[in-house]
Amino acid sequence: MLKESLRKRILHKRIGLSEEERRLLSRKIAENLSSLPEYKRAKSVLLYCPVKGEPDLTSLFPELIKRNALILPKVKGEELELYRVKNISCLREGSFGIPEPSEGEKVSPEEVELFVIPGVVFDKEGYRLGFGKGYYDRLLKGVKSPKVGVAYSFQVVDKLPRDPWDVPVDIIITEKNIRRLRNGVH
Ligand code: ADP
Ligand code: MG
Repeated sequence: MLKESLRKRILHKRIGLSEEERRLLSRKIAENLSSLPEYKRAKSVLLYCPVKGEPDLTSLFPELIKRNALILPKVKGEELELYRVKNISCLREGSFGIPEPSEGEKVSPEEVELFVIPGVVFDKEGYRLGFGKGYYDRLLKGVKSPKVGVAYSFQVVDKLPRDPWDVPVDIIITEKNIRRLRNGVH
């Protein structure tokens, strides 16, 4: 299956980045993300703790916590629950070894004003391959706020196979650029 072989190939390349490369590229991606007007004004921003070489955007956590805007997901069965995180030290290792909020204020997806979504592969129209479990597809079903995919530029391909439940992102950010695809909100 094409989805599966593509997922493996790009994941392998991402895991193979040196610490130095990852730091450098992550810094550029964080800069590009924080330059978005949608990011600056959002009162609730969903982010993530990086695993398997994902862009590390945790440098943005302190500033987001200061404005009480940091939201992180927690795996609960088949779903992602969202929590407002007030303190980094309350993160605990959860499913798949990902640090997760252990307590705090639960928020609904409707309250999130900007979704920052990691992925294994994105295409130029914003479609996304994750780890193959569909967590973000279920979370993002029907949400209205802008969705930003974040990835290294080698993770973006021309066109991905699509399933009916796949939810595309509205903006793709890499270390090289910011691509606005739909929902032309500024
Ligand atoms: P990923 O998006 O992580 O790459 P897939 O798109 O292949 O993974 O989805 C994995 C599984 O998640 C699918 O087999 C599908 O059954 C399930 N899934 C995804 N979105 C939904 C949804 N909105 N409702 C129910 N099941 C879903
Ligand atoms: Mg999907």
